[in-house]
Amino acid sequence: MRTVPFFNYPFVFTASEGRFLETLRAVGRRGAFIMQKDLADFEANLAAYTGAKYAVGVSNATDGLQMALMAGGLKAGDEVIICSHTMVATAASIHFAGGVPVPVEVGADRCIDADAIEAAITPKTRAICPTQLNGRTCNMDRIMAVAAKHGLGVFEDAAQALGSKFKGGSAGTFGRAACISFYPAKVLGCLGDGGAVLTNDEEIYKKLLLLRDHGRDETGDVVMWGMNSRLDNVEAAYLDFQLKDYPNVVERRRGIAAIYQQRLGACERVTLPPAPGSDPNHFDIYQNYEVEGDKRDELKAYLKEQGVGTLIQWGGRPVHQFGKLGFKQRLPKTDRFFTRCIMLPLNMSLVDDDVHHVCDKVLEFYSHS
Ligand SMILES: *Cc1c(COP(=O)(O)O)cnc(C)c1O
Repeated sequence: MRTVPFFNYPFVFTASEGRFLETLRAVGRRGAFIMQKDLADFEANLAAYTGAKYAVGVSNATDGLQMALMAGGLKAGDEVIICSHTMVATAASIHFAGGVPVPVEVGADRCIDADAIEAAITPKTRAICPTQLNGRTCNMDRIMAVAAKHGLGVFEDAAQALGSKFKGGSAGTFGRAACISFYPAKVLGCLGDGGAVLTNDEEIYKKLLLLRDHGRDETGDVVMWGMNSRLDNVEAAYLDFQLKDYPNVVERRRGIAAIYQQRLGACERVTLPPAPGSDPNHFDIYQNYEVEGDKRDELKAYLKEQGVGTLIQWGGRPVHQFGKLGFKQRLPKTDRFFTRCIMLPLNMSLVDDDVHHVCDKVLEFYSHS
């Protein structure tokens, strides 16, 4: 029986094992471990790829968003609006930067509902952190207009969206600063934790350089409180060679999404994400292929029985459902979405027949239930 795992972690390494080992040897023999040339090269190439003025390598996207907010001047008690359909990391970044995360409803395209943002604004609101979810960039015209109208800063959680675009602008380049994640399962993944912050703002850029390295400037003087949150040089070297092939990776992912669209688009029991190319304003990179399905739990169990791996994002719970963190919002649209959402396999280890197999099994399930 053909089995299609949801994700193939060894493949992150084995897909270019030779290159990884060569890189490790070269970096290791130079003893170039922390903040060396490979990191600077990667940062320059990442900035060029996204069109951001600056890219700063950091130890992970969560720290990155926290430092972006700190560099942007977030103050204790400032409220920051987020989509509840995001990783708890978005909320934690705000919390540890001193702010109060305020989750709101998810919209039809699985991004933050722009109308819900405006309804959640209070005198304490200072910023919006939209998540560019599943490799799609939100309608940033709407979000930037709300932000401008109310004088709010925008800090994108673009952890899942490197290379995704809205009206030609890359995810991570719309607001004051943004984080990108290189967690192994992300589209550009490294062999552990890694992240970057993008910004066009020179003042934020300079603060980020200090914040990630103990508050030390180029002379070694400590000029402010800082963290230790640097991107390892060897990871930066791995990421830099993978970035060269990244546009091909994105094309392949869009190709897989197109197969899902073609095979499942007519099935009324599932709601698919926007198809690649279906809206000229959006260029999606399909970090995830998240669908809504009738009888979601039964579908998941059936696919598992048939050897097809699936995943429900965030362990099945949007941020506002984490009552132990103090959230009290009532978000019925998001609650309903989380009874229906499920992610089908979409990764670089899949061949077309794997994708067709997943589609066969989904259609088989709905033909008899
Ligand atoms: C992966 C992810 C993060 C966290 O990224 P790390 O690099 O693991 O800190 C934050 N937000 C979203 C939306 C993510 O998918």
